[in-house]
Amino acid sequence: QVKQKGRDSYSFYTEHLTTNAQRKAEMESELHRAILNNELMLQYQPQFNLNNEELVGMEALVRWNHPVKGMIPPDLFIPLAEESGLINKISEWVCNAACQQVRIWLDKGFRVPRVAVNVSGAELMGGNLLTNFTSAMSTHRIAGSQLEAEITENFMMQDVERAVGLVNELRDLGIVIAVDDFGTGYSSLAYLKTLPIHRLKIDRTFVREIPNNVNDMAITHAIIAMGESLGLEILAEGIETREQQAFLRSKGCSLGQGYLFARPLSAENIEGWLAH
Ligand code: C2E
Ligand code: MG
Ligand code: MG
Ligand code: MG
Repeated sequence: QVKQKGRDSYSFYTEHLTTNAQRKAEMESELHRAILNNELMLQYQPQFNLNNEELVGMEALVRWNHPVKGMIPPDLFIPLAEESGLINKISEWVCNAACQQVRIWLDKGFRVPRVAVNVSGAELMGGNLLTNFTSAMSTHRIAGSQLEAEITENFMMQDVERAVGLVNELRDLGIVIAVDDFGTGYSSLAYLKTLPIHRLKIDRTFVREIPNNVNDMAITHAIIAMGESLGLEILAEGIETREQQAFLRSKGCSLGQGYLFARPLSAENIEGWLAH
């Protein structure tokens, strides 16, 4: 009986593996096609000054508009793209699409705040990070000062020397450098003194339970204080309530984004924000 059970769970296991692997392979080839067919799209989430609620920037967030499955969020395909190497194509597409959109808005006469683009950790080693930015910028005649690159702690920890070099080159183009999801990666604080960054983005998981979780409040306060004394700008992610905004403001965090203010919006719908 034990044997029987063992065999069943074994076959269940292999079956499970096969379907998983199959599903992955399918999705990979679909994703490949998606890039060619222009099924990817960007939404933009506004970023605000928490003190006067002025629009200060926008984060470009990629979505996969699948012909059958509908809108697929990035958490469901970016990790797969990173594993398969498709991330380089996606990043190239994202950089170009963001700059193209900025150009369209500028040509329509809007004053466009800085647009932030997410950089994958996988791009540090194999990618064409710098070329993606420079060629999109020159194709669409966009200045570096119009752009921000969001890198993660994991991006830096893979190869600190290389990361510092790349970040410096982006900075030299005038691009603002932000550390995304700050406080959640595997890293030491030591890099903060070697890395030429402008901005820390406090991860949403620390903001989520304010004001009910005193530990999250303590951590958030500490990140703000540390960032401030290092001369960095601090932006809080995932602000959903007035209480969270008030707490963050009171601790000296001057920037934020979250559903309280605006969800990620299509390029078309963002124009309402640009107009006022
Ligand atoms: P992220 O860069 O930390 O982006 C913030 C995420 O938080 C976005 O999810 C956004 O929709 C969500 N968010 C913003 N405000 C709130 C809020 O008030 N409450 C809640 N619950 N969520 C909020 P999204 O768009 O699903 O993106 C998830 C992650 O996928 C991003 O996290 C980023 O790591 C990655 N990603 C998105 N676009 C790109 C891209 O173009 N390239 C790369 N490499 N990664 C991307
Ligand atoms: Mg981000
Ligand atoms: Mg984040
Ligand atoms: Mg994130």
